[in-house]
Amino acid sequence: MPSPKIQSLMMNSPLTITSILRHAESNNPGGRIVSVTADHPRHETTYAQAFSRARQLADALVRRGMQAGDRVGTLAWNDFRHFEAYYGVSCAGGVLHTVNPRLFPEQLAYIINHAADRWLLADPVFLPLLEKLAPELKTLEGIFLLTGAAVPESAIAGLQNYESLLAEGDADFEWPELDEHAPSSMCYTSGTTGNPKGVVYSHRSTVLHSMASCLPDMLNLSVRDTVLPVVPMFHVNAWGLPYSVPMVGGSLVFPGPKMADGETLQRLIVGENVTMTAGVPTVWLALLQYLEASGKDLGRLNRTVVGGAACPRAIMQAFRDRYGVDTLHAWGMTEMSPLGTVNQPLPHQQDLSGDAWLDLKAKQGRAVFGVEMKIVDDDDNELPRDGKAFGALKVRGPWVCSAYYERPESDAHDADGWFSTGDVATIDADGFMQITDRTKDVIKSGGEWISSIELENIAVGHPDVLEAAVIGVPHPKWDERPLLVVVRRAGAAVSPAELLGLYEGRVAKFCIPDAVEFVEAIPHTATGKIQKMELRSQFAGYRLADG
Ligand code: AMP
Repeated sequence: MPSPKIQSLMMNSPLTITSILRHAESNNPGGRIVSVTADHPRHETTYAQAFSRARQLADALVRRGMQAGDRVGTLAWNDFRHFEAYYGVSCAGGVLHTVNPRLFPEQLAYIINHAADRWLLADPVFLPLLEKLAPELKTLEGIFLLTGAAVPESAIAGLQNYESLLAEGDADFEWPELDEHAPSSMCYTSGTTGNPKGVVYSHRSTVLHSMASCLPDMLNLSVRDTVLPVVPMFHVNAWGLPYSVPMVGGSLVFPGPKMADGETLQRLIVGENVTMTAGVPTVWLALLQYLEASGKDLGRLNRTVVGGAACPRAIMQAFRDRYGVDTLHAWGMTEMSPLGTVNQPLPHQQDLSGDAWLDLKAKQGRAVFGVEMKIVDDDDNELPRDGKAFGALKVRGPWVCSAYYERPESDAHDADGWFSTGDVATIDADGFMQITDRTKDVIKSGGEWISSIELENIAVGHPDVLEAAVIGVPHPKWDERPLLVVVRRAGAAVSPAELLGLYEGRVAKFCIPDAVEFVEAIPHTATGKIQKMELRSQFAGYRLADG
């Protein structure tokens, strides 16, 4: 006879960002938040103070009419005010839309309009940019400058500073009870072709991602950590650190606009007793160069998380051999909140040294619980985990996006819910994934995406160009830089300088290709598309003049 019916009897406490805030407030109210900002060379606050101000911000926005699901944009570096907005907006039921100020102005206007942001919180340094863009920003009702300083004369109607906005709100504001599936924040990615695509995170996905990232074999976060996120807060929520660090009660150090400044980073690391940092490889090169030139050290720093691009071996070696710092090579995506894998050794790998150690470290790591991962061939058959077979990398899990915001035409998801990452990888018998290439047709330079298609369209606009392809080639500082490969029309003699001149004023400076190579032909697939992977392998050993 079957047993009588039974139900679980556990509490259904929603997994919301507010629960992280409440936990930090009750258990670690004195947790430190240190920032560099435009108006403070060093600002220190605590979780208790920051969350009290987050309540004021929430109340001020609600009084202005913010309703559940309304978008509030930020165009800001990493500091305490941006941190307050992370909680003030999301815990009040709004959706925090972090905007990447490094995007080209047309893309900025596109994403702010596409997300239908109602208000924008912006660092004062972006005011000239916003004044130019303002006529295009159709949905914005107000812009607030993230400063306590007086607001300069501006063509933007009703421009106010953030501190005066906060003064409109009450620190007694009561957080609403939210559904854990409610949207909490969003971030656009330009890591695919066409217009940037919006990824919408939920309270639940954010909490689960934070819990997983604290695990020992992920980032191993604890109350004893002081963490310096050098990854921007506009790039996938600074890899979730503004949530995961308060979750464990650790301290946060924010570098403000001084993101790639080796001197500031070293001063913060030593002066604030930082134990962990996180950022793209380009930043660590700047730091290591500064250390070498100055002879300074890294104090109590014991680990640095490197992701966003493959971590060069020289960085991992220098951190370990000269400064006793472990590198945690990690892989993820905007679409994945972002953490997918982290490279932490298995028991039998702990004493590896020399090349064996570097070979292991070069891999992007093993999947954390919550991320299912597989590699497939062109017919979507799963490939073996033997470290040799390589194929398209697919993922699935509670902090992986299930669709892009208002982009029903996207074919990134299959019928079984797997998301195609656009990366090509191997997975070895121990579960270590290694990226070997990309199917997505974009270039990543210093952590920022460059659209190859946009660059190709400009090149083929020249009458002497028969066909053009842009690929990323390795660069020691920027990881990758664009190379323009051109087939000239018969008898044409257009020069590299003339072709590169086409880009001036038409794309952001960092997108302009570094070099031009002329070839007889560009490889194509059976359906006539350019075979970028083949072209990349043809130029595999290519060295740029400054590379
Ligand atoms: P984003 O959404 O801008 O964070 O970019 C995600 C993409 O960056 C991934 O799909 C990869 O192509 C690349 N990426 C991230 N981390 C790594 C890594 N550790 N090694 C190589 N590529 C990486």
